[in-house]
Amino acid sequence: MVEEERISILNDEDPSDGDFVTYWMQSSQRTVFNPALEYAVDKGNELDLPVVVYFGLTDDFPEGNERHYKFMLEGLKEVEKSLEDRGIQMVIKKEIPKEGAVEIAEESSYLVTDRAYLRFLKDWRKYVSERVDCPFVQIESDVVVPVETTSEKEEYAARTIRPKIQVQMDRFLKELKETELKHPSLDFDFETYDIKNIEEVVDKLDLEDVEPVDQHIGGTSTALERLDTFIDAKLHDYPERSKDPTEDGLSGLSPYLHFGQISPVQIALKVKSSGSPGSEDFLEELVVRRELSMNFVNYNENYDSLECLPGWAYDTLKEHEDDHREYEYSKKEFEEAETHDLYWNAAQNEMSKTGKMHGYMRMYWGKKIIEWTATPKEAFQIALSLNNRYELDGRDPNGYTGVAWCFGKHDRAWKEREIFGKVRYMNANGLKRKFDADKYVGQIESL
Ligand SMILES: Cc1cc2nc3c(=O)[nH]c(=O)nc-3n(C[C@H](O)[C@H](O)[C@H](O)COP(=O)(O)OP(=O)(O)OC[C@H]3O[C@@H](n4cnc5c(N)ncnc54)[C@H](O)[C@@H]3O)c2cc1C
Repeated sequence: MVEEERISILNDEDPSDGDFVTYWMQSSQRTVFNPALEYAVDKGNELDLPVVVYFGLTDDFPEGNERHYKFMLEGLKEVEKSLEDRGIQMVIKKEIPKEGAVEIAEESSYLVTDRAYLRFLKDWRKYVSERVDCPFVQIESDVVVPVETTSEKEEYAARTIRPKIQVQMDRFLKELKETELKHPSLDFDFETYDIKNIEEVVDKLDLEDVEPVDQHIGGTSTALERLDTFIDAKLHDYPERSKDPTEDGLSGLSPYLHFGQISPVQIALKVKSSGSPGSEDFLEELVVRRELSMNFVNYNENYDSLECLPGWAYDTLKEHEDDHREYEYSKKEFEEAETHDLYWNAAQNEMSKTGKMHGYMRMYWGKKIIEWTATPKEAFQIALSLNNRYELDGRDPNGYTGVAWCFGKHDRAWKEREIFGKVRYMNANGLKRKFDADKYVGQIESL
C-alpha cells in the first residue's frame, strides 16, 4: 500500500474510457520497490484494466550525453525484461516524454507518474496535467520522507531538517509488496523503440559526445549487488573509510539513485536491519543530506545560480570579487585538468575517466574552482557544468546542492579571508592531513 503522503493528484479529471492504465516512468527507472508502479497496478486492478508502462526517450534531455545514456539504457533494458516477466508491456517511444505522455493518455483511463524536483521536470508534469482528459496522479517514489511532509519551506541546513526527517522516518521505512497483476498487457501491439543493442542506440541518438565508462554498469540488479557488497564489506567502517579517497569505502550507489534504479527506502531498510555500527553515519548521508538536496531544489527557484545562496554568503563573495587571484583558469583548462595543482587535476581526471569522483574530493574540487576563477558567478557555472557533464550522478538535486555548498549554502560563516570572504576554505595541506593525497594522485594516474 502506497502511503497517502506520496500521492498527489495533478488534475481533476474523472477516469475516462481508456483501454488501460498508464504509468509514465520518468524518474523511478526500476520495477523493484517502486511505489508509482505498484500504485498503477493497484489502479488497473481496481478498474479491471491492464497496465502499460510508457517511457519517452529523448535526445534533447538537458545536459544528457552518451555517458549518461549508456548507463540509463542498461537500466531500462532490465526494466523492460522485468516488466515483461510480470505481464506488463513497456512502450518506449523516441520522443519528448511530456508529449508522448499526453499522446498515450488519449487511450488511457488513468495516468500515473513518479516525482521529480528539478524545474524543467516539474514543468513537464505541469504540461501534461493541463492537457490530459483522464486523472493524472504523481507518486513520490525516490525519497524516504516525502518532501512536503518533512517541511513546507526551504530548510536552512542539515541541522534544521534532521529532526524533521528523523521524527517521520520510521513511518516511511516500510517494505513495499508487489501487487498481484489481474490483467496482463502483453497482447497489446504497441510499437516500441528497440533498445536491445545499447551501443547502437547511443550512436543513433543525437547526443553530446562524452565517452561512456565501463566502471559502472547501470541497472537495478547491479545496484542491489553493490548494496549487498557494501553492507557486508564496507559499512562497518564507513565513518572512517568514507573520508579517504584512496580507499574504496563508499557505496557507489549515487548513479543508481540518480536514475531511480534503486529505492532509497530499500537501501535504508537493508542498512538498518544489518545492525552495523556504520549505519547511522550512512543514513545521515542517504536520507538527511540527500533529502536536504530535494528540499533545496524544490523550494529554491534559484538552485542553479549564485542567487540561491544565503545573504551572508552572497554578500561576502561579492565583497571579495575583485580580490587578486594568483591563478586564473578558463573552463577548458579546468576541463582538461590543466591546473598547477596535482590533487585537483587528479580529482578532475577521476571524474572524466570514471564518471564518479570521490565525495571527499568533490568538496576540494569545487572550492578550488572558486579560488581560481575570475568571479564567483563564473565559478558557479563552471562547477555545475563540469559536474553535470562528467558525473554519472550529475544533473541531480545533490549536484546542485553540492556545488552550492562549496559557495556557502547549508554552511555557516568562517573566518574572513581573500576571495572566499567568510565562506569555508579548503587547501591541499588539509587533504594531506586527512589521507595520503599523493597515493590518490598515483591511483588516478594509473587508471
Ligand atoms: C561539489 C559537489 C558536487 C556533488 N555532485 C553530486 C552529484 O552530482 N550527484 C550526487 O548524487 N551527489 C553529488 N554530491 C554529493 C556526494 O559527493 C555524492 O552523493 C557521493 O560522493 C556519491 O557517492 P556514493 O554514492 O558512493 O556515496 P556514499 O557515501 O556511499 O553515500 C550514499 C548516498 O548518500 C547520498 N550522499 C552522500 N553524500 C552526500 C552529500 N554530501 N550530499 C547529499 N547526498 C549525499 C548519496 O545519495 C549517495 O549515493 C556532490 C558533492 C559536492 C561537494
